[in-house]
Amino acid sequence: MFCVECGKEGEIYKNGVCVECYLKNHSFTSGPKLIDIGYCSHCNSYKYKNTWFLEPFEDVLKKWIFHSFQISKELTNIEIEPKCQEFPDGIHCHILIKGMLDKNQISESHDVIVYLKKSVCDVCSKRFGGYYEAIIQVRANNRSLSKSELLAIQTNVENEVNAMHHRGDRALFITDIGIERGGIDFFLSEKSAALAIVKKLQKQNGGELKISSRNVGMKDSRQVYRMTYLLRFPAYKKDDFISHRGTYYYITSISSNKLHVIELSTLKENILDSKNNDEIKILGGRELIKKMILVSEQGEEIQIMHPETFQIIEIKKPKNISIKDKMVKVVNIEGNYFLLE
Ligand SMILES: [Zn+2]
Ligand SMILES: [Zn+2]
Repeated sequence: MFCVECGKEGEIYKNGVCVECYLKNHSFTSGPKLIDIGYCSHCNSYKYKNTWFLEPFEDVLKKWIFHSFQISKELTNIEIEPKCQEFPDGIHCHILIKGMLDKNQISESHDVIVYLKKSVCDVCSKRFGGYYEAIIQVRANNRSLSKSELLAIQTNVENEVNAMHHRGDRALFITDIGIERGGIDFFLSEKSAALAIVKKLQKQNGGELKISSRNVGMKDSRQVYRMTYLLRFPAYKKDDFISHRGTYYYITSISSNKLHVIELSTLKENILDSKNNDEIKILGGRELIKKMILVSEQGEEIQIMHPETFQIIEIKKPKNISIKDKMVKVVNIEGNYFLLE
C-alpha cells in the first residue's frame, strides 16, 4: 500500500496515510494560555477546584493541566512535565505533554502563564478564628509538672503534630498552648489526632486517661462536641527514688504499665507493675544523691566519709561492682546508705 500523502510504500496507519504523515498533520493536545490558581501564603497550599492541597506547585499545576487541557483520547500513558519560572507578570511555564499513540511516543509542548490568586485557605481561616475540637490536658497526681517535663511534653506534642501534618493531615494544627495549674493544655483542630497523640503520651509516660465531651451547639444540623483528654501522670517520675513493699528502687524510665527500676541494694535492673501505685512511696529525686570520699574497700564492705560531717559510713557493696574513683555516689534513704554506680 502507498501513503496517499507522501507516496511511500509501507504500512498504512489511518485514513490512507502512513504513521509519519498522520503524526505530522495532527496535534493531540491543546489548552488555555493562562491559568489562575488559588494560593494561601500562610501555609503554602494551592487550590485545585474546591480543594486545597499542601503539595508542591508543579504537582498542583499538573492537576490543572490535566483538567483544563484537551488531550486526545487516542493517547495512552500520559505524562505532564511542567518547567516553571517566576516573573513579575506571573509564573511562566513550559508544559510538555507526553503520551503513546500505539507504539509511537508523542510529545507536545505548550507555554502557559499561571497567576497565583492570594487568599486564605479553609484550614488557615479556621486557625485564625481560634478553632479547636479537642483539648489535651496533661497533669500529674499530687504534684506540679516540672519545667523539664513541661518542655518535653510540649516538644513531643509539637513533633507529633508536625509529623502528622507531613504525612498529609493538613487540617491538623495547634490553636493554642496554655500552662495551667501545674500542667499544660493543648488546643487541637482534630479530635481523632488529639486522641492518637494523648494515647502515645500515655504509652511513653504512664498515667491515667480521662475522656469527657461537651456539647458546643449545632453546626450543619448536627450536634458538635468538643473533647477533653485529661492525662494524669503518676505522682512519681523518672529519676525518683521509691520504696515498694520494703525494697528501695531508683526509676530509670516509665511506660504505660511498667516501671523500669534499679534495685538499690543489688544495683540490678528490675520491672515493677505500675498498677500497684498505692504501694509506691516516693522518697525524693536526684537531689538525694551525694558525692562521698572512698576511705577503704574490703571484700564486700566499703567505708566512705561524708564530705560535710566527716562521719565514716560502712556500706555493703553490691556484687560485681568495681569502684574506680576516689569519689563515689551515695544515696541516703530513710537512714540507709546505698552506693550508686
Ligand atoms: Zn506518508
Ligand atoms: Zn493556608
